[in-house]
This record gives sequence, structure tokens and C-alpha cells, in this order.
Amino acid sequence: MSETTRQCAYCGNSASQRDHVVPKALLPNGTRGILVPSCEPCNSAKSKSDEFLRNFFAVDYRTCKLEVTHHLRKKAEKQAEHRVARNPTRTHREPEYVPVILPTGDLVKYPTLTIDGSVLKVALEWIARGLNYHHRKFVVPEDAEIEVWTYDESGRTSFQDVSRMSGFNGPFQIGHCFKYAVLIVDDRPTFSNWLFLFYDLVHFAVAIEDRALHDVHK
Ligand SMILES: [Zn+2]
Repeated sequence: MSETTRQCAYCGNSASQRDHVVPKALLPNGTRGILVPSCEPCNSAKSKSDEFLRNFFAVDYRTCKLEVTHHLRKKAEKQAEHRVARNPTRTHREPEYVPVILPTGDLVKYPTLTIDGSVLKVALEWIARGLNYHHRKFVVPEDAEIEVWTYDESGRTSFQDVSRMSGFNGPFQIGHCFKYAVLIVDDRPTFSNWLFLFYDLVHFAVAIEDRALHDVHK
């Protein structure tokens, strides 16, 4: 045991485990990634989000043809088939068959899970919380407001301008799948912004705003 207090990076309770902030499944084999202390309930809840994120990148048209995501597709496909096999009477919601272009260029269809935007938001929130703890050594308050949005052409200019004006730490890189840049404005989290780039193709921006502090500063 280390001499430092083992606090869960996500909820602040005492931690008994370690968690990969960026889901291990998304990282290339042999990449260690970023580990933070975690309690069992958070670790367990986050692992469901991690699974969802893996499936998202397995079926996303932007990443599904990348060689590096091949192992994600295999796992997502297996899981989808398993669920159908386990619940044959509940398939009035038929599994979706999504066209995917393989690295070989072949177009195939395979069963997949529906991507729910709100679940995706939760999955990215977990990562933002974990990275915040990793860099700043405090737990994001439970009532903090976390915004997640797709980082598209229209959002690009404003986010980068803000970053340039306020000082930019990063970007940091984890393996080949995930880069992020963090913008921290204050010593304490009046707010911080995170820019997530998965596989250089899929971009999200995440803003964490500490509502309590924000109100105090008004
Ligand atoms: Zn926890």
C-alpha cells in the first residue's frame, strides 16, 4: 500500500482498485494507459461505460475501417450475438445489422448494439473525471456540470481560440487511439475543457464547470 491516501478518483470514497481512465480495450496491446485509484462500485459502473465506448468505436463509420479497431469489432460482434442468443424471445427489437467496411475493403454487415447518445455522454464524462483527477489530484464535485459535445467544424474555431488565449497544457498522447488536450483556467475548477480525439478521427469536447464555485464568483 502506498503512503498516500487512496481516494477514488471518481467519487472520493476510499479506493480499493485501480481503473484505466481510457478503457483498456481501446488501447493498443501493451499500452499501459493512465491508471487512477477507484472504488469497486465506480469501477464496476465505469466498466459498463467502457464496454459501450468500445462498441461505439467498433461500429462508428469513421473508425470501423481502421486496422487498429479490428479487435474491437470482434468483441462487439461476439457480444451482440451472445445477447441475441441469450434472449431469443425479446428480439422484437431485432439486432441492427450495420454495414462495415473491413480493412480489406470488403463491405460486410454484422449485428451491433444501438448507440445511445446519452450513454456516450456518460462514458466521456467518466474519462473527463478520471483525467481531471490524474492531472489535478482532486475529485470533480458530484454536482459539477459536465457538457459533452461533438467537436465538429463549427465548434473547432471557438474552442481553439479559447485554448490559445488561456494557455494550453498538452496535447498528451496515449497509445495511438487517443489524444487529449486540456485547458485549465484556474487553480481550482471554475471550469476546465477537454478535447478528446479518438484514433485521430472522432472528436469530442468536454467542459466541466464547478457550479458551486461558479456561483461564489458571481
Ligand atoms: Zn468511487
